[in-house]
Amino acid sequence: MLEALSHDIVIVGAGMAGLRAAITAAEINDKIDIGVISKVYPIRSHSVCAQGGTAAMMRDGDSYDLHAWDTVKGSDFLADQDVVEFFVKKAPEEITTLEHWGCPWSRTEEGKINQRPFGGHSFPRACFAADMTGFHEMHTLDGKAKTYPNIKFYDEWFVTSLMIEKNAAAGLTAIELKTGEMSVFRAKAIIMATGGYARVYEFTTFSHTATGDGMTMAYRAGVPLKDMEFIQFHPTGMVPSGILITGGARGEGGYLVNAKSERFMKRYAPEKMELAPRDIVSRAETTEIQEGNGIEGPHGPYIALDLRHLGEEKINERLPLIRDVAIKLSGVDPVDEPIPIRPAAHYSMGGIHANIKTETSVLGFYAAGECACLNVHGANRLGTNSTSDCLVFGAVAGEEAAKFALSHDLRDFSQEKALAEERRIFDDIWGREGDERIPVIRDELRRIMSERVWVFRKEDELKSALNEVRELKERFKNTRVEDRDRQFNTGLVGALQLDFTLDLSEVTIAGALARTESRGAHTRLDYPKRDDENWLKHTLGHYTKDGPRLAYIPVTITKWSPAVRAY
Ligand SMILES: Cc1cc2nc3c(=O)[nH]c(=O)nc-3n(C[C@H](O)[C@H](O)[C@H](O)COP(=O)(O)OP(=O)(O)OC[C@H]3O[C@@H](n4cnc5c(N)ncnc54)[C@H](O)[C@@H]3O)c2cc1C
Repeated sequence: MLEALSHDIVIVGAGMAGLRAAITAAEINDKIDIGVISKVYPIRSHSVCAQGGTAAMMRDGDSYDLHAWDTVKGSDFLADQDVVEFFVKKAPEEITTLEHWGCPWSRTEEGKINQRPFGGHSFPRACFAADMTGFHEMHTLDGKAKTYPNIKFYDEWFVTSLMIEKNAAAGLTAIELKTGEMSVFRAKAIIMATGGYARVYEFTTFSHTATGDGMTMAYRAGVPLKDMEFIQFHPTGMVPSGILITGGARGEGGYLVNAKSERFMKRYAPEKMELAPRDIVSRAETTEIQEGNGIEGPHGPYIALDLRHLGEEKINERLPLIRDVAIKLSGVDPVDEPIPIRPAAHYSMGGIHANIKTETSVLGFYAAGECACLNVHGANRLGTNSTSDCLVFGAVAGEEAAKFALSHDLRDFSQEKALAEERRIFDDIWGREGDERIPVIRDELRRIMSERVWVFRKEDELKSALNEVRELKERFKNTRVEDRDRQFNTGLVGALQLDFTLDLSEVTIAGALARTESRGAHTRLDYPKRDDENWLKHTLGHYTKDGPRLAYIPVTITKWSPAVRAY
């Protein structure tokens, strides 16, 4: 028998979406008892790394419709417009709510919350706290969440599977990393808020924890994943680490320059230049590099991000983190020299298929934040719209889960299934003595994804990538985990994370191979045009033991018909 812990609501993930959900649920009723599980301490969640800002309509001259239109156009018309309209109306409330909870937003001279321009937004609407926006937002949320006696934190617990009984959420299995023991969590409602999976790539802006665990758990339990082929590549990953240089650096006026000292964006987005959406800028940079216009460096050709004309004072005030990071990790002081950058894997537009209320196809199971696909961002997310999405839909998930928990009982779960999960992990993955090493397979997966499922894609490369990922799945069955100690077994955690990312890569590539068009971040060299007649639809990937089964559902259009997307 496995020990079972019970809560009315269990939230997996203590990033921006998870913490925001917990606070709303706790405020709705102090009798609701909430458990928040996180594999790392909450303020080590990737949300802490958000730099540039959080988008919201806060000023005269801007409007809900303008923010919605920018988001829909940025999404290359794949966003569900009812969800976008709801999102833009709720975002300003979140900024003021965080303000009341103590978030130190940067200010204008008159003391108002300041806003900076950002790629793809036609109005300066990114609220920011210098270039450490996520850090301040997360400390605000974490501090607030810890004031509620009805929220209990399970830090450094690793969730391994979602248990569903009769199409309703029944519970989860999780390992306490300190002891290495597995327990069952029972809950009336479960919210998945486990973040993205960009760590499936080598060159990425994301923390090592971003391995898409919750997406795979939902997928394996029968909840489809949506639009997984759409992965965002951020134009300014710093060379060689991949650490992000915020789009705010271009928002403040930074230039992108090639080896000929040319601001090449004039040839790709003559109006918006460096402030075009990320998909367009990343394609432009990749094209420049492929055409031999990259600047040669010890880590391969790169593009220069030039901030020198902003001056030291502005850089210190608006971009202090960027300056510090560039000096420490690239050996370049942006006050004196341009920063070497190139596109880096940055965000997953796809995720757990959920509706405007964050409900999934399973009763009592909700998804919010980057692991969810609701669908606000369509084929390409605008910078600063993700943190707003986590806040807005984190709150929605908290409210919906609370309402659900107040009117439902705990469901029975199957001890047998829980014990089978314990055997899968400790007897099989940890117990087996195979010949393959986990880091080797992980690095091969990253190489395949980085070489063939990157900014530009084509059929033969996607096909070979899919075959090779399937071979890696077979090889994974013959691995061994070197770490033999049960306590804080990071080797086992690495193996479980690799296991999750193998399934996610497979469904991502299958979706990319099927989608014979170019839209947003998904660019097929063999199908260079957007094809609204055949592809104005969302991909759903359903789990089967033989690989994903794809299906399609329509896009919701309220006000804006697909049009030419020029910047
Ligand atoms: C460097 C960087 C800068 C960014 N800047 C911006 C920006 O300026 N503006 C913007 O809007 N967006 C930005 N983004 C994107 C944005 O930060 C993320 O999309 C968002 O913060 C994701 O939040 P989340 O709550 O969904 O997940 P995360 O913050 O990633 O949190 C995931 C949580 O899930 C937990 N978890 C995961 N798996 C398990 C498991 N198996 N068991 C237990 N717990 C688990 C983790 O411990 C963590 O607590 C940036 C992203 C990066 C990488």
